[in-house]
Amino acid sequence: MVFSLVRTPLPNGPRRVAVRSVDALTPTYLRIALEGDFADFESRGADDHLRLFFVPDDVDAAELAELRPFPSREYTPVSWSADELTLDVVVHGEGPGSNWAASATPGNGAMVGGPRGSQVLDGRPDHWLLAGDRTALPAIRRFAAQAASGVPVDVVVIAEDPADEQAISSPGDLRVTWVRDLDALIAALGAAPHRDGDGFAFVAAEQSVVKPARAALVAAGFDLERSIVKGYWKRGEAEYHAPH
Ligand SMILES: Cc1cc2nc3c(=O)[nH]c(=O)nc-3n(C[C@H](O)[C@H](O)[C@H](O)COP(=O)(O)OP(=O)(O)OC[C@H]3O[C@@H](n4cnc5c(N)ncnc54)[C@H](O)[C@@H]3O)c2cc1C
Repeated sequence: MVFSLVRTPLPNGPRRVAVRSVDALTPTYLRIALEGDFADFESRGADDHLRLFFVPDDVDAAELAELRPFPSREYTPVSWSADELTLDVVVHGEGPGSNWAASATPGNGAMVGGPRGSQVLDGRPDHWLLAGDRTALPAIRRFAAQAASGVPVDVVVIAEDPADEQAISSPGDLRVTWVRDLDALIAALGAAPHRDGDGFAFVAAEQSVVKPARAALVAAGFDLERSIVKGYWKRGEAEYHAPH
């Protein structure tokens, strides 16, 4: 079946939020529920990203109107309802995002901006290849949930520790491979099966994944124009801005 990636703007404005709950999916992967007004929140693309602004609780309305001075980082909406949005955040030990998540407690304030646009997958791919580290797991899970019943869904995810492996589900014929590092992820992509039909691939991890992943996808028969390959962070660089 033919599919395409269609860019759509989204109307999401900035929202003031507060931490509602923090659940440790693993000691270094936290599910953080944010309470706020999400009645008109939209996220149509599985790899949408929003910006979480780490705003101190004592900031007044005038300071809030200008968000730029506050540090912020990008995260993928996991799930949402009219009054709650959930994020899954990697605690890797350094940086305002990791530190904020590690110390998040109910009542802590923040701001959410976006997502400002989506890349929506229009149509149903014949097969899927979804790969990345735990920063990409929210997007991988959202993509996997979109697969048509019974189509092959090959997933490769880095969990440096076996305890970091997470449940992934899909209506498709799901095969999940857990690997321990980026080299093993790239090797697994290089060994990806060459499947018939129109396949979609999504790969996101540390920035050095981009070049070898693109080469592996081409070798496996994927069309790069209709695949997504991104660096979600860069080793040694704070607030890496991936090209969107
Ligand atoms: C489109 C998009 C969606 C994303 N979605 C998510 C998401 O849903 N959940 C999530 O956890 N992350 C997600 N990320 C990644 C997240 O934005 C980055 O990891 C970000 O750098 C974290 O900010 P920080 O303040 O913790 O670290 P920074 O201040 O940015 O970096 C400080 C140091 O930590 C290192 N570092 C940064 N991230 C990691 C990491 N994950 N593991 C190890 N070292 C790291 C950097 O190399 C740097 O040396 C997403 C990124 C993009 C581009």
